[in-house]
Amino acid sequence: MKHGSRMISSAILILILTWMTIPATLSAGDSGRRVAIALHGGAGTILKKNMTPEKENAYREKLTEALQAGYQVLLQGGSSLDAVQAAIVILEDSPLFNAGKGAVFTNAGTNELDASIMDGKTLNAGAVAAVKRVKNPIKLARTVMEKSWHVLLSGAGAETFAKEQGLELVDPKYFYTERRWQSLQRALEQEKKKRQMRKSEITPETQDDFKFGTVGVTALDQAGNLAAGTSTGGLTNKRFGRIGDSPIIGAGTYANNATCAVSGTGQGEYFIRLNIAHDISAMMEYKGLSVQDAAQQVIAKLTHLGGEGGVIAMDRHGNVAMPFNTAGMYRAYIDADGKPVVKIYREESH
Ligand code: ASP
Repeated sequence: MKHGSRMISSAILILILTWMTIPATLSAGDSGRRVAIALHGGAGTILKKNMTPEKENAYREKLTEALQAGYQVLLQGGSSLDAVQAAIVILEDSPLFNAGKGAVFTNAGTNELDASIMDGKTLNAGAVAAVKRVKNPIKLARTVMEKSWHVLLSGAGAETFAKEQGLELVDPKYFYTERRWQSLQRALEQEKKKRQMRKSEITPETQDDFKFGTVGVTALDQAGNLAAGTSTGGLTNKRFGRIGDSPIIGAGTYANNATCAVSGTGQGEYFIRLNIAHDISAMMEYKGLSVQDAAQQVIAKLTHLGGEGGVIAMDRHGNVAMPFNTAGMYRAYIDADGKPVVKIYREESH
């Protein structure tokens, strides 16, 4: 009986995930070669009833602006790495997303930013974790990839490197936004309440309401090269120097011309444990799965383990899958006619 109902719920999940997969998103660049770009601005409890039309428009506009910036790079023959970086910088500079300017606060009231980027042609990668003064962490991740022989730099050392390389450093106050500060206050309040609750009173409804806003981009350029990048402030109220999946190559970001480019968003601990981004690539490589099937299977694994989130995954032909298991995921891509498509809620999936 139990086994039967589990099979039914797995079948329903697969149906939902299939419904959330979108068709190819290809457009011709100057040379006639196909280019593609897709991005996410975080997954989580994003419900229409909690949105005002103004807020929704602001998100849609910023996602479109970032998408177009990356797309123009690709149309002009620029690299997928440049397109990923151009789009992410726009999202990092916006207070709307949990990356760069809009980063969430740690338990200590600071902002600690993580980012990574990967080149599908060479499998080169760069990443930074827990930086507090770097205006655009994605630029630093790219610099780590190109100007050092390391993959991941963290904290003060990463900032010294940023300074040496001439990247823009800002006063940590730059990352203060009232909205994120209030989120931290609510999280601290919730934590206090939970400490006072008896174990039996803690139900899914009283658990923390994770609201993600990480950003990520995947792109395919005219030379046929894939790239992926991710940038985040992590989770509100994180502590003890917690680092999520976003700067971990294979967990939050992965790109390989032989398979796909992936960026994830969600509860990073699960993404690290499941090696989500690389797992999609591995399933395509070892099992010959399509990007849609591989991405769906990985989100099914995430759901099975109790984690929340989503991914954008693009294969070397520009086909894109965007499965997620939360109420919504900010996401956008350029369709086959070269038009931007922006979606937020689950109901917009088809
Ligand atoms: N994955 C990010 C982290 O765990 C959070 C997010 O996607 O919003 O740090």
